Amino acid sequence: MYSTPRRSVAFIGSECYPFVKTGGLGDVMYALPRALVRQNCDVKVILPRYKCIPWEYQEKMVYRGAFQMDLCADGRSFYVGIMEYVRDGVVYDFIDNEEFFSWGSPYTNLVDDIPKFCYFAKAALAALNYLDWIPNVIHCHDWQAALVPVYLRTLFADTRLNSAKTILTIHNLKFQGVYNIPTVKYWSGLPDYVFNKDALTVNWLDANMFKGGLTYSNAITTVSPTYAWEIQTPEYGETLDAHLRYHAGKLRGIVNGIDCETWDPWTDSRLPVNYDITNVLDRKKENKRALQEELGLFQDDGKFVIGLISRLTDQKGLDLLNAILPQVIDGNTQVVVLGTGDKVYEDSFRYYENAYKGTVCSNIMYDETRAHRIYAGADALLVPSRFEPCGLTQLTAMHYGTVPIVRETGGLKDTVEPYNQFANTGNGFTFDRYDAGLLLDAINRAKTLYFTNRWCWDEMVQRDMDKDVSWDRSAQQYRDLYLELT
Ligand code: ADP
Repeated sequence: MYSTPRRSVAFIGSECYPFVKTGGLGDVMYALPRALVRQNCDVKVILPRYKCIPWEYQEKMVYRGAFQMDLCADGRSFYVGIMEYVRDGVVYDFIDNEEFFSWGSPYTNLVDDIPKFCYFAKAALAALNYLDWIPNVIHCHDWQAALVPVYLRTLFADTRLNSAKTILTIHNLKFQGVYNIPTVKYWSGLPDYVFNKDALTVNWLDANMFKGGLTYSNAITTVSPTYAWEIQTPEYGETLDAHLRYHAGKLRGIVNGIDCETWDPWTDSRLPVNYDITNVLDRKKENKRALQEELGLFQDDGKFVIGLISRLTDQKGLDLLNAILPQVIDGNTQVVVLGTGDKVYEDSFRYYENAYKGTVCSNIMYDETRAHRIYAGADALLVPSRFEPCGLTQLTAMHYGTVPIVRETGGLKDTVEPYNQFANTGNGFTFDRYDAGLLLDAINRAKTLYFTNRWCWDEMVQRDMDKDVSWDRSAQQYRDLYLELT
């Protein structure tokens, strides 16, 4: 039995695991609809039918219909096919058009992507109309779906769909779909009046699709409350800070969760030894020894093992770690890095592995299994990011009883409560300013607790495992927002 009224929601976005995924957006598009189904929501996910979707899914899609749709300013029309696939209570409708979606990867270059996602946004609404499925809420994700609210209130204003409320979620503000006004005007076929400085226009000459979507949507969300505040500042706002400040009244942050089926230390088949909150203290040691053996580190479960699992890019605060790594190594500490990215970081971590053989291990690769084993075998996990909209590694670490050491930014600030030695509360160690000395200080505070007050450390490990980092909590907040809007 459900205690809340039923709501229907159409998710519109450019990627979704397991069909196609290039980043965190794909995970959210997969996990959130499934969690919403459990919260009495009727969910349809609308995606492009890319050619690169694996055949095992393509062959299960069912043809639901097709029509011609006007798109461009000169009335050029295009084929829209609808292919459907149902899985775990979620209906996936794929928009089929070979001309736009037959490339090897979902994103190519802006010249092709601008027409592609003008087409996709309009076709998604047209498909809902065609199927006569009028949802309470249309939930759009990132710039690729940002024109949906704009189309809805202009070219679709006379359709039944116009009764739906719209939400635009910001996963990555860096990419905004910006191109010159004549091109966007031609491909979108949108009326002249949306190309004004309060909606799509930026710098007098360009059209910014994300900005237009933010203007026309009923609510804006991003993936943590702190990041929702940060993007209203010039430092994090990617030039849209003033626009976001203007729309602050409809902006809020809801943190992501992790998929607790994939990430469960009790059933995780990639771990040498499974554990739960009742036996984590003993069994984590066994996982630590196995990790040390696998990676060629000195085998000693008394050592403090610090992990880092990350893309090796400037965003992730690796210049801070590089600056202080020699000071972290003290005879009782080991460091395990897993990641790929910028050459400068890959090389410096390789250098440290050579310089501190048996103590530092740099895995310059993408390896899921190794990630699972590091989450299970390390004592602490570093996330010193410069900015972090939500961040998943700190959530996964806590779920595996690994204490996070993080910078207080974005979702890191919202999900890791700093350790309070007087009240013996908190989930991890944090520092605020982007400063290598403060990172070192946070690591040293963690080490001090680990080596001098293990009882309190162990309690924190258990507190972390007990913390709810699942999608259910976030889904509940999204559902509350849907109810609020409708
Ligand atoms: P971002 O999306 O900015 O890269 P997140 O913290 O949101 O950062 O998510 C990163 C995800 O990718 C985590 O689930 C992490 O475990 C995984 N990951 C990152 N680098 C690697 C790697 N080299 N090998 C395996 N998994 C990785």
